[in-house]
Amino acid sequence: MEEEWQQILKRSLKSPEEIARFFNLSVEKVRKVARHFRVQITPYYASLIKSEGDPIYRQVVPDERELEESDGAADPLSEDADSPVPSIVHRYPDRVLFLVSHLCASYCRFCTRKRKVGDPHKIHPRYIEDGLDYIRNHSEVRDVIVSGGDPLMLGDRKLESILKSLREIPHVEILRIGTRIPCYLPQRVTPKLVAMLKKYHPLYVNVHFNHPDEITPEAARALALLADAGIPLGNQTVLLRGVNDDPTVMKKLMHKLLTVRVRPYYIYQADYVKGTAHLRTTVEKGMEIMDALRGWTSGLAVPYFVIDAPGGGGKIPILPSYIHSISDEQVVLRNYAGELFVYPQVKEKPAKPSHVPPCYGYPIPSV
Ligand SMILES: *Cc1c(COP(=O)(O)O)cnc(C)c1O
Ligand code: SF4
Repeated sequence: MEEEWQQILKRSLKSPEEIARFFNLSVEKVRKVARHFRVQITPYYASLIKSEGDPIYRQVVPDERELEESDGAADPLSEDADSPVPSIVHRYPDRVLFLVSHLCASYCRFCTRKRKVGDPHKIHPRYIEDGLDYIRNHSEVRDVIVSGGDPLMLGDRKLESILKSLREIPHVEILRIGTRIPCYLPQRVTPKLVAMLKKYHPLYVNVHFNHPDEITPEAARALALLADAGIPLGNQTVLLRGVNDDPTVMKKLMHKLLTVRVRPYYIYQADYVKGTAHLRTTVEKGMEIMDALRGWTSGLAVPYFVIDAPGGGGKIPILPSYIHSISDEQVVLRNYAGELFVYPQVKEKPAKPSHVPPCYGYPIPSV
């Protein structure tokens, strides 16, 4: 019989001693890093590492550069300011993040929520009732993104009780789950889990893959179970130095995701998180990658590239510029291959030109 996911999770590398021995690092240094942000790597994910410092390794193996905290913020997205109760982040008009678990199967060294994730006091089961009450009392919330930590770290029964309570709220139209489990611990996705999930449709699942080597046969099996249950799958990727900051790698990842029925949704510029400077890239790198995708491959393989703005501005889409110039007579456009084309404007103008984008004249904030 195959090993149960709980057993696999139990065999994770987590004590500083184990981690140091396995990766040939100094125990002292691992201990220091682990005091700042929890370290854990499932045996399955560790088995995908081919060599020291490779794209899989860099995402989960502690690095002493994480202790350099001069650059970055603890709460770069100012989520705490938009938190009416500890388990809710309510930033946008009609949807909320609902943090239901502080645990992840492995801990991403670049995690935006490292100030909270892994800490049972910051994301605690006792806050779940408060979160449900908040959503019940806010009839504008039509979309709930169940997140954490990783919601699939909860047992089936606990997760079901949350989904069931959310489904009973009349104004909640859609449910979403954000999870990295299909990447870190695909064995957690069982027929029993998906049979439960499909009772709560319309339910969307957003997964998190950052490198083509993560799309293994095990991950493909987990994603197929979810897709076969009628769950639309999206993917969120974080742009990371030495992991996927290369148009060829990123294109391959997007293509592999589509073969396992996952639609690329977002590529995130790495957040301005303390202790992650060694994993961040320039914004131009992301624009270069978008330029290498759009037009060159299926539109389905092209996600939005966004910066989650420091200070709580939310996700802002970044596009390489396709408008070369614009006047009352014509728009000069650049296509994907860099060639210019002219689109003549309509002759009869509306009374007042409404085009000018609302992006000039605001004061520039400091971070
Ligand atoms: C990302 C995010 C959402 C969801 O955004 P979509 O663009 O609808 O996927 C909602 N709330 C917060 C606080 C977020 O960070
Ligand atoms: S899976 Fe998500 S919440 Fe968990 S450590 Fe990674 S980025 Fe953070």
